[in-house]
Amino acid sequence: MTIEKNQTYTVTIDDLSYEGLGVAHIEGFPLFVENALPDEKVTIKAVKVGKKFGYGKVMERFNDNPERQEVKDLDLLRSGIAPLSHMTYDYQLRFKQEQIQNVLKSIAKMPDLPVETTLGMKDPFGYRNKAQIPVQKVENKLTTGFYRKNSHTLLPIENYLIQDPAIDQAILTVRDILQRFNVKAYNERDNTGFIRHIVIRRGHYSHEMMVILVTRTERFFKGVEIAEVIKKELPEVVSVIQNINPEKTNVIMGREEKVLLGKTTIDDTLLGKTYRISSQSFYQVNTEQTEVLYQIAIDLADLNKEDIVVDAYCGIGTIGLSLAEKVKHVYGVEIVPQAIEDAKANAKRNGIENANYEVGKAEKIMPRWAREGIEPSVVFVDPPRKGLDEKFIEASVAANPEKIVYISCNPATLARDLKRYETFGYQAVNVQPVDLFPQTHHVESVTLLVKAV
Ligand code: SAH
Repeated sequence: MTIEKNQTYTVTIDDLSYEGLGVAHIEGFPLFVENALPDEKVTIKAVKVGKKFGYGKVMERFNDNPERQEVKDLDLLRSGIAPLSHMTYDYQLRFKQEQIQNVLKSIAKMPDLPVETTLGMKDPFGYRNKAQIPVQKVENKLTTGFYRKNSHTLLPIENYLIQDPAIDQAILTVRDILQRFNVKAYNERDNTGFIRHIVIRRGHYSHEMMVILVTRTERFFKGVEIAEVIKKELPEVVSVIQNINPEKTNVIMGREEKVLLGKTTIDDTLLGKTYRISSQSFYQVNTEQTEVLYQIAIDLADLNKEDIVVDAYCGIGTIGLSLAEKVKHVYGVEIVPQAIEDAKANAKRNGIENANYEVGKAEKIMPRWAREGIEPSVVFVDPPRKGLDEKFIEASVAANPEKIVYISCNPATLARDLKRYETFGYQAVNVQPVDLFPQTHHVESVTLLVKAV
């Protein structure tokens, strides 16, 4: 049987993809289906059919999986903001644990490595401390929302479910101010117009707010005046920045920035230390769960005063500075220069003198440290989704630490890297998932590796 586009089929969902899409098989041919859970019988229309798989859209559902939960706003599923919001939270947590188990089996060939229960949030909503919201003209009005997945159609959204409600409100306030000043929305198709994104960060504990207006061109008519009105209507705002991004690109921020009002950073607190955060620096979006994650990572390392610690992919220094007082020395490395400036300032303001920071690629700096005779006893890594570079793995093994603590935001590259470390004599002990991204398919975890004796 060949599956044809626009034909309807009645199927039973038999699996979930790693993105949380339901999977149905018709004579072995997989179709991915939004808003569909295992054991649900559905009539779907094939909306896209490729050589090896296709996509279906639910036309009718005949029964509900007991773990189904009412979806508050279907656009939140369609846009990818909250793709798991049709699953109960318990089910989401199990789904994430199983995903790690699956890749440990299939990619790492480590079926027996224990994966603990995912640590979730009491209230798994409203947690994001950062929003990056595209702006478009819809029916002649400046509109904020989110793109439908794989498209550039803006779905107007006012309640994002997973963002700090104060940020949701601020987006609307900024949108209305821009509209009042007749600021033109960016037009993606022909790379014209002006305002591309509204980016907002809010300190979870400090409540300091940064508003970044991403514009296509530099000249911002009444920009400072607009920033002053924003500050007046949103008293938490301590920083308004114009970021200029002239390129036709999906990358949100450009390189050039101007301060329209206030500071260039906001402050926040994490595990009792205060941090300054710049517009371009990475900062975990779920502060409450990041504290859980880092505390586990630190406990797993079981540190003492003789330890020399490497904090690779350190961002603004949060992991290393949280543990610096327990150890002899911390060496941090990070590729974004602004983040390293933040890390150095953060060490200083927390009175920490035993931490050094370097800008550069971890895979370049790690071998250099070895040549300089630095002998870490514990290496923390927290890489982006693509995981660790082979050169980094080799250099970290050559440095001969007793322990490696691997914080991962991508189970597939984690599994690949655990396998590589195993061949070098580092054995993973267990994996602890921590839910940093409720209602989404993102899976964060921490793994302890120890040198085999
Ligand atoms: N540990 C930090 C940041 C983790 S995110 C925290 O928890 O806040 C991953 C970081 O790795 C980002 O800050 C990113 O800029 C940085 N990065 C990406 N590629 C890198 C590389 N090759 N070498 C060093 N840092 C890199």
